[in-house]
Amino acid sequence: MNLSLWYFLEMHDYHIHTSLCKHAEGEIEAYIESAMDKGITEICFTDHIPFADGFDSEHRMSPSDFNRYVEKIELLRGKYRHMTIMIGIEADYIEGNEDYLRKFLSGYPFDLVIMAIHFIKKWTDKQWVFSYEYTEQTLEHQYRDYFDAMIKGIKTGLFDVVGHLDIIKRPGYPVLNTNRTDVVSVLDAVQAAGMCIELNTSGLRKHVNSPYPVLEIVQMGVEKGIPFVLSSDAHKPEQVGDFFDDIFNELFRFPDLELAQYRQRIATHHKIAQPNLEY
Ligand SMILES: [Zn+2]
Ligand SMILES: [Zn+2]
Repeated sequence: MNLSLWYFLEMHDYHIHTSLCKHAEGEIEAYIESAMDKGITEICFTDHIPFADGFDSEHRMSPSDFNRYVEKIELLRGKYRHMTIMIGIEADYIEGNEDYLRKFLSGYPFDLVIMAIHFIKKWTDKQWVFSYEYTEQTLEHQYRDYFDAMIKGIKTGLFDVVGHLDIIKRPGYPVLNTNRTDVVSVLDAVQAAGMCIELNTSGLRKHVNSPYPVLEIVQMGVEKGIPFVLSSDAHKPEQVGDFFDDIFNELFRFPDLELAQYRQRIATHHKIAQPNLEY
C-alpha cells in the first residue's frame, strides 16, 4: 500500500448540499473553503431537486430558488478559479415522476445527476427511507421494495450516479444478509446502464456507522467493472470530504477500482492504483 498515491489523484467530493434545501447549513462559500482546507480540488454541489407540486418542500429548494442556486455557485466559480466547482443535482426518482425529471434535467446543463430513492411510491405517506415502519412487513420485504424502485430508476436512463445505494439499511441489518440477490440485480442494472455508484461517507456519521454502500458491495461493483465516485453528502461545511482518508485507505484493497470524473454528465475513468501522473 502506498498512501502517497492519494495525492496524485484529483480529490473530489461529488455530493454537497446547500442551505437552500432548508436542512443543510452554512454558506456555499464555506463549503468551498472547507474543501480547499482538505486538499479537495474538485467538488460538485448536488442539492435536492425542487418539485413543482410542493411535495416534500421542507427538505428541498423551491422551484423559484433554482436560479439562485445556479447563480450563486457560478459567481463563486469566478472567485475560486483553481478549484473545479461543478453544478449538479440530487434528483429523487419516484415512480411516475419520469416526465417531470426529464423536463427539469433538460432545462440546465448539469455536470452530474445523482439518483436518490428517498420515497417509495407504493409506501404510505410519511414513510421514507430514513424512517419507515416494518411492523407489518419484514425488513427483507421493505428492502426489496426499495431495490425494485432503484432498478426502475436506473432503467429510465435519466441519471448518472446511483446515490447512497444501501441507505435503506437499518443498524444491525445489512442488506446483503437478506437481499443479496436484489443487490446483484441493482449492480447488473447499473452496469447495463453505464452508470456509476457513489461511495457516500455520510453513513459513517450516522447510527449505521457504515458507508453507503458497505464495502462488500463496492467490491461486488468493482468485480463488475462499475466505476465509483466519492462523496460526503455534506449538509454542513465541515462535512465536506468527511472520512475520505479512512475510506480511501480501505479502497486500496481494490486495485481494479476505477473512480469516475465528470464533466457535463460525461465520465472519464481512472484506476485508483494506477494514478495519472499528469495530476
Ligand atoms: Zn439523499
Ligand atoms: Zn444528499
